[in-house]
Amino acid sequence: MYLFIHRKDLRTDDLRAFEALHRRGGADIHLLVIDPAIAAPDRLQTHSGRTFLRAVTRLAADYRQAGRTLHLLHGDPVEITEALLLAMPIAGLVQQADFTPYAVQRDTAVEAICKKHDRGYKTYDDAPLIDLADFGQFARRTEPYKVFTPFYKMWSGYMRQCYAPSGSIRIDDLATVDELESEIETRFRLPAWIDELLVDAAAQEADEPSPQEQLTDFIEGPIADYSRHRDDFAVDAGSGLARWINHGALSPRRIYEAVAELEEAHSWIRQLAWRDFYLMQARQNPDFFTYERQFDFRELSEHHYEAWIHAQTGIPIIDAAMTQLRETGELPNRLRMVTAMFLTKNLRCPFTKGEQYFRRMLADYDHTLNRGGWLWSSSLGYDAAPYFRIMNPVTQSMTHNPSGSYIRKWLPELAHLPDKIIHQPRPEAIVDLKQTRAHAIEVYGRMLRGYEQESASPGTDEPV
Ligand SMILES: Cc1cc2nc3c(=O)[nH]c(=O)nc-3n(C[C@H](O)[C@H](O)[C@H](O)COP(=O)(O)OP(=O)(O)OC[C@H]3O[C@@H](n4cnc5c(N)ncnc54)[C@H](O)[C@@H]3O)c2cc1C
Repeated sequence: MYLFIHRKDLRTDDLRAFEALHRRGGADIHLLVIDPAIAAPDRLQTHSGRTFLRAVTRLAADYRQAGRTLHLLHGDPVEITEALLLAMPIAGLVQQADFTPYAVQRDTAVEAICKKHDRGYKTYDDAPLIDLADFGQFARRTEPYKVFTPFYKMWSGYMRQCYAPSGSIRIDDLATVDELESEIETRFRLPAWIDELLVDAAAQEADEPSPQEQLTDFIEGPIADYSRHRDDFAVDAGSGLARWINHGALSPRRIYEAVAELEEAHSWIRQLAWRDFYLMQARQNPDFFTYERQFDFRELSEHHYEAWIHAQTGIPIIDAAMTQLRETGELPNRLRMVTAMFLTKNLRCPFTKGEQYFRRMLADYDHTLNRGGWLWSSSLGYDAAPYFRIMNPVTQSMTHNPSGSYIRKWLPELAHLPDKIIHQPRPEAIVDLKQTRAHAIEVYGRMLRGYEQESASPGTDEPV
């Protein structure tokens, strides 16, 4: 009997771990741990926390429908693992690999517990579309790519020649253990308040199309106009699938296979390559999660942070975007870049503040992709925006939504303004865009001086 723990793979098909369990045969324990360290009460009430709960209820329903058992426990994954290993005849633990700092620390401890009790421990890196070790060999390099365009070229070649397709084993093909040792059930039982949140989430999901249906709808319709409309934030031509991809509710491989042959999917597939580019950095760029420790942020300040989160900057497109984010948990990619660059450059606030705020707000929050986006905007990390190229939010607004319909929607108090005026800074704007831009270039220039910025083609590789 093996212990399989779901993490960012909340689905019941196309998991490398399922294939391994199937090869071994027998009934296994399938478990999802709600870990208070990352799913604290306040977190589960945010947009990103609610998405997680929605994905959990879908997963539980899929198990039920297949007549299989998914155990849900609440507590420290290390303690839960040890308790299970001591109480049940488990030969080893199988799970998806995860590379965020918390995950690495947690999994190191889990692995040590398995070793201590002389049980097996095996992880599968199912998140990227490419197998990163294999990709390195294919590309004949030991160093990770630091610029997106050559990475993407190689990525495309790899996907054509070496792509490992999705697996056929579904939960129906596996046997699950129905009961855990009763002391464990009691000790790690979900608290009532989580049960209630799950009931609410299930009720919400009942009215929503499934992730798979959303994918099909996207492929049958909007994908054809994706490249034309992606930056048109009033339309937001994105698939809206990130939230499911990030929790693993949709398999990236199945998504890729559904669109790989479609001519019109070309630019959308490129976005999946951006995702792999950041996943690669999380695994292979030792600085990815620690850039903030390498720079002297003393010239930066949190002075305007509150105005930014409360949509009170007086720059209409920024305030409209921050309103949409707070109310819905949604924000089109271009506006993520514009608001992030405004915070880090015009307001000269450390990127980590914005990163933390997005963590709570984004319905599709993902630690790695969020960090990638914030590093890009603050000119840190591989292939980031050059520090001297600062997006002007007014120009961005006029270019991508000339009619101002987006601002009118989210800031109805400005709806009466004519098209030409609506984009302009309000009299109460907290900063002057021109002055703060010039100042940011000086400050970031000083801050980054001496730091090797390895972007070979500055400014060409926007994640668009
Ligand atoms: C500051 C900032 C923060 C961000 N935080 C997150 C985050 O927490 N979670 C998240 O999923 N994405 C994040 N992104 C990337 C991107 O904005 C979202 O993936 C995208 O807007 C999600 O919309 P969608 O589901 O319609 O994706 P689509 O536009 O339909 O794209 C399909 C998929 O491609 C990938 N993708 C798309 N754009 C990017 C990108 N720029 N970088 C990497 N992968 C991409 C995603 O997996 C996405 O689901 C962030 C970007 C920035 C600039």
